[in-house]
Amino acid sequence: MSSENGSKKDVLLEVKGLKMYFPITKGIIIQRKIADIKAVDGVSFSIKHGETLGLVGESGCGKSTTGRAILQLYRPTAGSVLFEGVELTEMKGETLRRQRREMQMIFQDPYASLNPRLTVGNIVGEPLEVHNLAKGKERQERVQELLKLVGLNPYFVNRYPHEFSGGQRQRIGIARSLAVNPKFIVADEPISALDVSIQAQIVNLLEDLQSSLGLTYLFIAHDLSMVRHISDRIAVMYLGKLVELTDHIALYEEPLHPYTQALLSAVPIPDPYIEEKRQRIVLEGDVPSPTNPPSGCNFRTRCPRAMDICAEKDPEWKNMGTPENEHWVACHLY
Ligand code: SF4
Repeated sequence: MSSENGSKKDVLLEVKGLKMYFPITKGIIIQRKIADIKAVDGVSFSIKHGETLGLVGESGCGKSTTGRAILQLYRPTAGSVLFEGVELTEMKGETLRRQRREMQMIFQDPYASLNPRLTVGNIVGEPLEVHNLAKGKERQERVQELLKLVGLNPYFVNRYPHEFSGGQRQRIGIARSLAVNPKFIVADEPISALDVSIQAQIVNLLEDLQSSLGLTYLFIAHDLSMVRHISDRIAVMYLGKLVELTDHIALYEEPLHPYTQALLSAVPIPDPYIEEKRQRIVLEGDVPSPTNPPSGCNFRTRCPRAMDICAEKDPEWKNMGTPENEHWVACHLY
């Protein structure tokens, strides 16, 4: 699978042929590998400085694992992750620890990801200590500055996570990830667990922070309505592989892959006339097991347009757009 390309000098992150397999073992004393869960199976994309790439797919498709493998929270089975041209998959120990300052993660469940026994001041200030960036009064001032930056009262430093609403807790998580001045953030479904009325506020906050701090995001979501507003480009993932990748306008106006078309058909349209005519494509069956994905195109067992060739050959990753406006898709229809 060839990668999609941006202009090389603009690229912050380049992922090539990323694979993340988890072994399934059998036996109590001597453990034998009997199969692999192919959570991520040859994913390639790049993200430019200051860009937001949305990564969308049903739960279990490998999108969160992709985010973690990029940050080296999981060590990839194969492939390359270049951050500002430097290979992360070979980095170890202190070098990797230092590199992690540049790349942070925001988690889906703001309650589970915050230690309930620590005050907000300690939660947000912990990365400053871990990376030896600030201590004592300086640390306290930086924590207050971070709380202000995410729209929280800086005098809340001595409160505990349970004293905050879901949206406020997510703001605390964002403040913590910003403490070390990262360049790149993997936002792993940061709004999925929040009330709909709060989701837009968090998306707006992330956008404001992006323009004021020059951040680059990989924004992971399970449906296309959530990434529409924030993403510059969107990648759609199914069963460990990318099936389509293009800019956010082309993806919504001319989706090419049958899976993207089905996902989009489920997104409500805020126009009653168009909404009435909208045809919902309901996908039959469940997502197959990543331990034993179907031969050829791994979407073929649910694809309404599957042909004979789909069972025989893995579709190529092709640019159906232009070199300026790339539109990548993996499907035998093109
Ligand atoms: Fe459907 Fe075949 Fe395209 Fe796969 S390659 S999405 S099965 S038409």
